[in-house]
Amino acid sequence: MKAEGVIGLEVHVQLLTKEKLFCTCPTDFGAGANTRVCPVCLGLPGSLPVLNPEAVTVALRAALALGCTVNNISRFDRKHYFYPDLPKGYQITQHQHPLAQGGRVDTPFGSVDLDRLHLEEDAGKLMHTGESTLIDFNRSGLPLVEIVTGPCLTSASQARAFLESLRQVLLYANISDCRMEEGSLRCDANISLRGGGRTEIKNLNSFKAVERSLEFEIARQSRMLAQGETVPVQTLRWDETQARTVPMRPKEMALDYRYLLEPDLLPLVIDAEIVDRAREDLPELPRPRAARFIKEYGLSPQNAAVLTLTREMADCFEQVVAAGAAPRPAANLLQGEVSRLINQGGKQSLPSPHSLAELLALQEQGSISVTAAKEVLAQMFASGQSADSILSRNSLSQLSDRHALENLAQAVIANNPNPVADYLGGKKQAFGYLMGLAMKESGGRANPGLLKEIMVQLLTKQPINK
Ligand SMILES: [Zn+2]
Repeated sequence: MKAEGVIGLEVHVQLLTKEKLFCTCPTDFGAGANTRVCPVCLGLPGSLPVLNPEAVTVALRAALALGCTVNNISRFDRKHYFYPDLPKGYQITQHQHPLAQGGRVDTPFGSVDLDRLHLEEDAGKLMHTGESTLIDFNRSGLPLVEIVTGPCLTSASQARAFLESLRQVLLYANISDCRMEEGSLRCDANISLRGGGRTEIKNLNSFKAVERSLEFEIARQSRMLAQGETVPVQTLRWDETQARTVPMRPKEMALDYRYLLEPDLLPLVIDAEIVDRAREDLPELPRPRAARFIKEYGLSPQNAAVLTLTREMADCFEQVVAAGAAPRPAANLLQGEVSRLINQGGKQSLPSPHSLAELLALQEQGSISVTAAKEVLAQMFASGQSADSILSRNSLSQLSDRHALENLAQAVIANNPNPVADYLGGKKQAFGYLMGLAMKESGGRANPGLLKEIMVQLLTKQPINK
């Protein structure tokens, strides 16, 4: 029997703002170490924090997108601990009175209840290089929301699916860029098995790390419990190279942080009017949008789910349809070739919805073959030009000229007497071979129906040389 875990996640999300949470230092990623700092985020004596209203707006949007209840008054607290990445000796967070409570995330396996969502500042970053440790304070004071789930996940794959669904909503509502590799989405996981102690895995920074570390912990803890051992309450980190969790320190009790109301910041008051306005600004979220796609465009639930995976793709689909394309061919084009080309990456730009609609129209009219349409699309991605201009520049339009096709087929028949004799002798598969040669000769442009008709006609006129 596979052991079921009791898993809760604490997700740290960096908010998309220009400035840090309590100072005006820029939040851009990748700047030189310690070039995005000031007395406030370095925690120098005498400096005072000033709350960035933009961070509050984005955090509020996050709370509403996740269906949380926004508290009319929330407060900031100091969470004390001593660590080199925290110059003040405390982190400003919201402990007793968070920005928002409740809420949920819809996932493929059901809805996951959230416990709370609160604002806090990020710490600096330690870099261990050989014998020394360096500190970069550029991250110090970056605006985060911490999103805490109830202990309602039961497996590693559920935890991963939850995070993917959460990320989708955060991206849709423009809350964070959610780049796990840059640290703008990270997660701590609490995990216990029935009857065992709870461990916490810190700072998981990829979906893979979340899934693998939880799988490892579930297996480790169930082995220990089966052998009659007790699982100690511990804080762990995930060692990717050894593929195992490693103890960091005994888990701190909440008391150890000596939470204290932050005396330098006023309570944050958010009235109903502000909440209403923020709600109006929310974009349509992925689930309701997929439901609308099924109803409005007659798409299958699967098509609708794929097309609404990202807001860009969903927007593009609706714009292609608005530009005159039929919904189903448009959906197929975007899910198929367009997605394939996007995933290939490189220096490519998504063609405009108008030009995608134009391409679909050309295909619909039979002006270009399916093969040629793929080629045109690839060129649209690479050059940013429209389907029409690519077609007029290259000879990709479908060859439907009867006379030209007759000449082409005649030449293939004349140059391949043996396959022709085979065909006339009853070997029907030789026809496919000759068709292939003729198609190749046309550069893939021959209208296949017309070419076939001409080939059959010409072959029946051939004398049998036996
Ligand atoms: Zn600063």
